[in-house]
Amino acid sequence: MKIICIGRNYPQHAAELGNEKPESPVIFIKPETAKLQRRFPFYIPHFSNEIHHEVEVLVKINRIGKYIEEKFANKYYQEIGLGIDFTARDLQQNLKEKGLPWEKAKAFDGSALIGSWYEKENFTDLNQLDFELVKNGSTVQEGNTSQMLWSIDALIAEVSRFFTLKIGDVIFTGTPAGVGPVVVNDVLEGYLGEEKAFKINIK
Ligand code: ZN
Repeated sequence: MKIICIGRNYPQHAAELGNEKPESPVIFIKPETAKLQRRFPFYIPHFSNEIHHEVEVLVKINRIGKYIEEKFANKYYQEIGLGIDFTARDLQQNLKEKGLPWEKAKAFDGSALIGSWYEKENFTDLNQLDFELVKNGSTVQEGNTSQMLWSIDALIAEVSRFFTLKIGDVIFTGTPAGVGPVVVNDVLEGYLGEEKAFKINIK
């Protein structure tokens, strides 16, 4: 499986990092080795002094597809989730300034937390879905999928123009404003609608 991540899909987050609103979705890939299983802690890697949390709504692909039309995109997933795109912001900043690829900052081992999966029918409207990240008991990121520049179905259409989607692939749909650092002993909890999708300790 592969993990396909979307950057700058929430205007307020793009603004907080000083990025322009993109003309098309920013897309990058994390390999399967980036996957951090639920119930495992996240270990701060030795190569970064500034790991940020980015809470994101996830989509699990359940059919193979290429050049998927947006109107048929809903046939390519049954489950929705919530996760964290852990980012070595210091490294990413350095790579961005040099115009280099972001993989070292974004695709390292354990950088993709994938929480529980839920049948999409559990939610009344996937384009009006609240989600939240709580750090040590306080809300640090809040979003609603209505704020996304590209909806889930639009993202599937766009991504599948470039990458064949396969069963088990996961799309990270971008993070809302409020990204920030994590340190050892932090506890992060994610909520998708009313569901508690994950709890993770930082080590
Ligand atoms: Zn992200």
